[in-house]
Amino acid sequence: MIYLDHNATTPCAPEVVQAMLPFFGTTYGNPASPHLMGREASRHVETARSRVADAVGCDATEIVFTGGATEANNAVLLGLSERQVCPRNRVLVSATEHKSVLSVSEKLKARGLVVETIPVDEAGRLKIDVLREQIRDDVLLVSVHAANNETGVIQPLDIVSAMARGKGALVHCDAAQVLGKVAFSVSELGLDFASFSGHKAYGPKGVGALYVRSGLGKALDPILVGGGQEGGLRSGTLNVPAIVGMGVACDLSRARTDEDSLRISTLRQELEKQLCKIDDTVVNASQTERLPGTSSITFEDVPADMLVTNVHPLCISTGSACTSGTVAPSHVLLAMGLSREDAQSTVRISLGRYTSEADIAAAIEIISVAVSALRSRLI
Ligand code: PMP
Repeated sequence: MIYLDHNATTPCAPEVVQAMLPFFGTTYGNPASPHLMGREASRHVETARSRVADAVGCDATEIVFTGGATEANNAVLLGLSERQVCPRNRVLVSATEHKSVLSVSEKLKARGLVVETIPVDEAGRLKIDVLREQIRDDVLLVSVHAANNETGVIQPLDIVSAMARGKGALVHCDAAQVLGKVAFSVSELGLDFASFSGHKAYGPKGVGALYVRSGLGKALDPILVGGGQEGGLRSGTLNVPAIVGMGVACDLSRARTDEDSLRISTLRQELEKQLCKIDDTVVNASQTERLPGTSSITFEDVPADMLVTNVHPLCISTGSACTSGTVAPSHVLLAMGLSREDAQSTVRISLGRYTSEADIAAAIEIISVAVSALRSRLI
């Protein structure tokens, strides 16, 4: 198996697995318990909180552990909409957000908020001029992801954040795809809320973190209520093994991001250069700043769903794993102006920390053969 689907999920780093093991065995306490075993668990949770905070550029008190980035995105959009409907009632979200933002937007509309989409250009970047018109004094929140899961396109968050601030609007960023891939700092960018996911950064699944800028916790109505854990913002017994794992994954990422991203982008360059030798092949957003390991490639007239099932033993994807399984073309590619046909002929190849030169050489060979066979109707 050659795994080239790191935007869907990453393998847990061996260091992460090792660090988690004691928390399934000897150190099983509930961090909310006041006794020795509970206090021991709590100490490890707090270490992990500091590690996550250091990796994303904030204070440990500003990190709330969640069950993943989907939950963190929901917690911000739903949580804000409950508390602050008036007098600000408009929410702006980019057209290429993950479904865990776009689907929540539908709920916000049902709650009486006006949700508007910020369009992107053909390179996948936000149309800043349009955003400038859209941001007015009645905007409650602007939600823009840091990098897109399908194309890897990185958004100009510094500009978005400055524009929102100028109008007194809050800024949320779904940063699930950047953690562990490129340097990212919530404080440098001036964000109010940001969502992170453990399993996109060589940590475990089912854990994430929400950055809530100091003092803004009271702006959110918690979506989960109960025992009042995480400062009342996220009730439920903490998933200690996963939280510890996410902390170690964040530490590793900090140490490795520069080296990893250089190596991975060199491999991607070779992959794209060789695949572009195939006729009628386009790398989407190739001239835009992108995550180092993400490649969105259109092979005209080749159904992407057939391609991904005919490239054994490669693991690549037709779009985001969370939405694949549906036949609809990707909303991200359509928003960038691709035709439905081209969107349905597009695959995502995402490289990661353990991808080797040999993996890329094999991928080039296998994909080239499969594209040619599908175009000649031999498959
Ligand atoms: N946002 C983005 C940009 C993502 O790529 C994903 C995962 N596909 C999510 C949110 C959801 O993250 P999680 O799996 O942690 O809920």
